[in-house]
Amino acid sequence: MACTAETLAAALRAAAAVIAGHRGELIDLDRAIGDADHGENMDRGFAAIVSALDALAPKTPETPAAVMKLAATTLISKVGGAAGPLYGTAFLRASVKLGDAAEVDGPLLVEALRAALEGVQARGKAVGGDATMVDALIPAVSAAEEAAGSDIAAILTAAADAADKGAESTVDLVPRKGRASYLGERAKGHLDPGARSTALVLRAFAEAAR
Ligand code: ADP
Ligand code: MG
Ligand code: MG
Repeated sequence: MACTAETLAAALRAAAAVIAGHRGELIDLDRAIGDADHGENMDRGFAAIVSALDALAPKTPETPAAVMKLAATTLISKVGGAAGPLYGTAFLRASVKLGDAAEVDGPLLVEALRAALEGVQARGKAVGGDATMVDALIPAVSAAEEAAGSDIAAILTAAADAADKGAESTVDLVPRKGRASYLGERAKGHLDPGARSTALVLRAFAEAAR
C-alpha cells in the first residue's frame, strides 16, 4: 500500500491520539530532567494538527507534501519550547522531500525520513549520543534505509522498533543539548522525553500504515 494525502492525514490523527494517551508519561519524563511540559507541548501541537485537518474536512490537502506542510506550520506556530521548532522542521523537511508526489512509496518515505533527521540536526545541532530525539531518529532512519525495498508498513515498523531501542539508549547518556544538559551527570538514568515522543509518533505511523 502506498501512502496518499488521506492516509497520511489519518496517520497524523492516529499520532495525535497516541500522544494524547501518553501526555502524562511525557510530562513525567520531562519533570525528571526538564520543565515538565513536553507532554503538554506535544499534545497541544498534535491536537492543533487535528483541528487544522478538521477545518478543511471533508477535503484533505491535495498531496502528502501539503498534509505534512500543514502539520509542520501548525507545530511551529502552536508549540513553544525546543520540541515545536524541531518537530516542525522535521515535518517541513519531509514535506519538501515529498514534492508533488500523489503517493509516497517506500523509497520516497525513506528519503523523507532522512530529510526529517537532517532538519532536526541542522536546527538543533545535536549528534547521536547527546540524549535527544536524535538518538531515536538516527537508528530509525538507518533501519528504514535497510528496509527501503519493503512496503511502507514494514519500513515504518522497522523504524519504530529502532526508535524504541534508540530512545531506551538515552537512559545511560549524559544530555548535551537542551534543558536536560543543565543537569549534566545528574540527568543520567532518565529517558529523554523527546526521544520517547519520537518513538511514539513513529509507532503510531507504523500502526496506521498496517
Ligand atoms: P523544552 O525543553 O523547551 O521545555 P520540550 O520539553 O517540549 O521543550 O522538549 C524537550 C525535548 O526536546 C528533549 O527531550 C529533547 O529530545 C529535545 N531537544 C531539546 N534540545 C534539542 C536539540 N538541540 N536537538 C535535538 N533535540 C533537542
Ligand atoms: Mg520541557
Ligand atoms: Mg519548556
